[in-house]
Amino acid sequence: TIRSRASWSSDSEDSDSSGADSLYRVVLLGDPGVGKSSLANIYAGTQEKDANEHRGEESYERTLTVDGEETTLIVMDTWETEKQEQAENWVQDYCMQVGNAYVIVYSITDRASFESASELRIQLRRARQAENIPIILVGNKSDLVRCREVSVEEGRGCAVVFDCKFIETSAALHHNVQELFEGIVRQIRLRRDSKET
Ligand code: GDP
Ligand code: MG
Repeated sequence: TIRSRASWSSDSEDSDSSGADSLYRVVLLGDPGVGKSSLANIYAGTQEKDANEHRGEESYERTLTVDGEETTLIVMDTWETEKQEQAENWVQDYCMQVGNAYVIVYSITDRASFESASELRIQLRRARQAENIPIILVGNKSDLVRCREVSVEEGRGCAVVFDCKFIETSAALHHNVQELFEGIVRQIRLRRDSKET
């Protein structure tokens, strides 16, 4: 099943042939309302969502061909799930542990969400100390130019400080969304390839 394959692939000690481990979990983090679900839905396209009832997960699996090579990403839009319930902390701890890559989203129209993004980066570093996990900082809602509160330069600067990639997207216009997910795939491959040599 998808789930068992997913947990299997996170096992970095598993040294099966290279093609077999090209399944990765990508976790979307960020404040409510920044556009995580919108980005996940664009990624999912017309595909059915693979909702896991037990964990209240929303995850979307799709295979991308990037630079002539196929990679399957399971995009997890789980961060706010069960926010009202006591399980919240558990869900968030779980998210911090299971990702093979992270997308930290803020809205360029909401400075507080930009500050939260920094917090999340710190939390993530704490949770996964020794690991060099791919992280992409995403400034979403780039279409709302008149409401902009965070400049491109600030976003880029933050990514430099936090040693991660940066992209501005507009889920509303589908702008840079494909590029975002392709970028994640490339980041994952860079780390995989440097491990092999
Ligand atoms: P989430 O809480 O992070 O999952 O955010 P949602 O995906 O639910 O989006 C919150 C609201 O922002 C919704 O009304 C979306 O339609 C809107 N939204 C999301 N992305 C964009 C965007 O790129 N541009 C604009 N203008 N609105 C967006
Ligand atoms: Mg959402």
